[in-house]
Amino acid sequence: MGDFNQAVVLDAIRRSQDGISRTELVQTSGLSTQTVSNIVRRLLKQGIVSEGEKTVTGIGKPRTPLVVVPNSRFAIGVHLDPSVITVVALDLTGSVAFRSREQTGLGVDAATMVARIAEIIEQWVASVRIPPERLLGIGIAVPGPIDEAMGTIVSPPLLQGWDAIRVREALRDAVGLPVLMEKDVIAAAHGEQWSRDNDDENFAFIYLGTGIGAGLVVDGQVLRGASNNVGGIGHFATGSTTPLCSCGRSGCVGAATQPANLVAWAIERGVLPPLINGADSGEVIEAFVELGRLADKGDPGARDIVDTSARQLAVAVENVASLIDVDTVILGGPMWHPVSRRYLGILGPELAARYEVRAIHGIDVTSSVLGEDIAAIGAGCAILDHMLAPKQTGLLLQD
Ligand SMILES: [Zn+2]
Repeated sequence: MGDFNQAVVLDAIRRSQDGISRTELVQTSGLSTQTVSNIVRRLLKQGIVSEGEKTVTGIGKPRTPLVVVPNSRFAIGVHLDPSVITVVALDLTGSVAFRSREQTGLGVDAATMVARIAEIIEQWVASVRIPPERLLGIGIAVPGPIDEAMGTIVSPPLLQGWDAIRVREALRDAVGLPVLMEKDVIAAAHGEQWSRDNDDENFAFIYLGTGIGAGLVVDGQVLRGASNNVGGIGHFATGSTTPLCSCGRSGCVGAATQPANLVAWAIERGVLPPLINGADSGEVIEAFVELGRLADKGDPGARDIVDTSARQLAVAVENVASLIDVDTVILGGPMWHPVSRRYLGILGPELAARYEVRAIHGIDVTSSVLGEDIAAIGAGCAILDHMLAPKQTGLLLQD
């Protein structure tokens, strides 16, 4: 997509609400008039930007605003979850132009899953007749931890055999587009940041999916860490008893919020009927949704279970928030919605009462606006940033 200066110019055009003129680009970028003029000519020729309507303000030449052409390029975002494949296509403004979400059932092997992802992408590309040069690449969000250098998922729970597969390479080979791989919680934070578009933002994104994780944005930067695995908070201590965690201890926040654990507890107490097909089936999710519904309705047993887990989560969230001094905590992910109303009602007051810096600033606790597609959207945003923004993501691009 061109050099660093081009990325600076395109980023400024992309971020401007009503377009930006060449003169304004020279002022904001610090580049010479000649450089800006050359880059703009190239972007116009490539069809990535266009000239808006000229406006006359006072004396001198009329102002010609430059705006991006949303449909000139697309980024594809994929979220690979143990039982769901989500694929989205984002235009240059980050708007969703296409989405597909399908259940695969548990235990599907890696090759079948990658082939299916490739098929969904190819069908969309064929249906809208987009030439390949207008596709920037694919971002794929996967459950962590990831081995970013290898492009693999490390010992993924519920994705047996997946650690032997180089996911990033396999997808690149299947579709023929450059691929970035990102941990799902970090992708989600990235997507949320894009949708907010505030450069100085500080927030923690708490992701409830197959496991729990935190995506962290500090001073407008998505944190990634030494191995792109920031935010593994699953074993943060809640200070109270939980079912035994995979690490061998009791009291971990991952165990406190795990849908399978809450469902098992509800069955034990007679709040929910026993599962017919066992704990590894999609039935757990259905039962979890039902548990959330019962709690919302006021069932005392369901409410006690959901509220206990919310208070345990509040302890971990408070630690995350204090560590990086955020004013906003956003919650989302595929397992968030069923418990969101009860959780928000407890997390808000718990944090307001105990937050370390509450005398200096408040803390806003809120639901993600992006819904269940957030990790896929975030992975697409990572591609947009990697290819178009002057500050790159630091992720490895398989091309
Ligand atoms: Zn643990």
